[in-house]
Amino acid sequence: MSTTARSTNEYRELDAAHHLHPFSDMGSLNRQGSRVIVKGDGIYLWDSEGNKITDGMAGLWCVNIGYGRKDLAEVARQQMEDLAYYNTFFKTTHPRVVELSTLLAEVTQPGYQHVFYTNSGSESVDTVIRMVRQYWSIKGKPGKKTLISRWNGYHGSTIGGASLGGMTYMHEQGDLPIPGIAHIGQPWYLKEGRDGESEADFGLRAASWLEEKILEIGADKVAAFVGEPILGAGGVIIPPASYWPEIERICNKYDILLVADEVICGFGRTGDWFGHEHFGFRPHLFTIAKGLSSGYLPIGGVIIGDEVARTLIEGGDFNHGFTYSGHPVSAAVAHANVRALRDEGIVEQVKKDTGPYMQKRWREAFGGFEHVTDVRGVGLIQAFTWVKNKATREMFAGSDDVGTLCRDIFFKHNLIMRACGDSMVSAPPLIITRTEIDAMLSTAVECVEQTEKLLQERGLV
Ligand code: PMP
Repeated sequence: MSTTARSTNEYRELDAAHHLHPFSDMGSLNRQGSRVIVKGDGIYLWDSEGNKITDGMAGLWCVNIGYGRKDLAEVARQQMEDLAYYNTFFKTTHPRVVELSTLLAEVTQPGYQHVFYTNSGSESVDTVIRMVRQYWSIKGKPGKKTLISRWNGYHGSTIGGASLGGMTYMHEQGDLPIPGIAHIGQPWYLKEGRDGESEADFGLRAASWLEEKILEIGADKVAAFVGEPILGAGGVIIPPASYWPEIERICNKYDILLVADEVICGFGRTGDWFGHEHFGFRPHLFTIAKGLSSGYLPIGGVIIGDEVARTLIEGGDFNHGFTYSGHPVSAAVAHANVRALRDEGIVEQVKKDTGPYMQKRWREAFGGFEHVTDVRGVGLIQAFTWVKNKATREMFAGSDDVGTLCRDIFFKHNLIMRACGDSMVSAPPLIITRTEIDAMLSTAVECVEQTEKLLQERGLV
């Protein structure tokens, strides 16, 4: 199975000697040694020791189509031979970028006819920041510059994306956020809901924080509200159904652009093509990345609603773009990927079969544990949260590191799930079958049992 040319230890040593990993404490990682992943097929990965691992996270929520698709490899190979690179800057285009843009106009709802390409989610978010400001400038309202987003939201790692995101541990490094960004609270009932308050009422109250913030800043200074339909890296926070329609109403009332960050929710994760379809709202623009190519090559973009697109098109030069905007090989692979997600019925299967099945089984599996609460999910994105006391919603101290404890037990059982604080989250490839869901959950339940035992042994509960 292994395709390694060196031993695991050699890889670890060279990795420690020459490679700085993203979002990592390198001192601690180098002492421990990285896991070396060498192969993927379907929902499975193999490491350099020959262990078969179930990837309950689809990489970083991106390998929607699953690993090992030879047809995508063949599309890339052919495109590299035909035209490995050309840009789309100076009055130039190429067939692959045209085909992908046309296909994206088909899989989105009516009214989203244009796309601007980037290489990643972060670049898409940065593009949004510049694009909404440019939009208001063209409209003769250059004072509308501030973007509002949520605490605990994640919008990438560039200076713009990290500023817009609401991760304070990111803000602390490097004097973020930049000016022109404001944050409101997240719509997480478990943490922010009041005793006796219904979820629907909480959703409206959480949306009202946007109105308060707009009034505080002044609507004539606010360009856009940006939010993930479901907060992903923040721990799969699913807002009450009342939230997004109210956010949309407030944006319309104050003439503010509504932007959905669909980097995780896009391309079938919720069972609908995009998260905003699931929640029933219409953003003026939305970001895409990850599932666009299922991670086979880097590509992202911003999908632009018709009114905003018309304004930008009539507004003259938009001085923004990347060498690899609409890269031909990435575009060719993304096209083949999106077509497969549609034509092989993969997104439809999440909506009609595997999504509802996962949600039913997920709740059955974790609903009964004494220290597990808020067992939640939609389509193939789900989570639960560790709590000290279910009834009082008392959380563990951050220093208890319960999420990491549990995550490490999952790892030992060759199942990848992620800990976002004390929330355990999962978002497997969309091709996962019912049998694979059963197997994954039976391992996960064992791991959660072991974690509860460990919590007792350590006197944490
Ligand atoms: N937005 C959201 C909602 C994301 O989840 C992410 C990545 N996890 C990003 C933006 C940034 O994407 P990238 O890592 O491709 O820059």
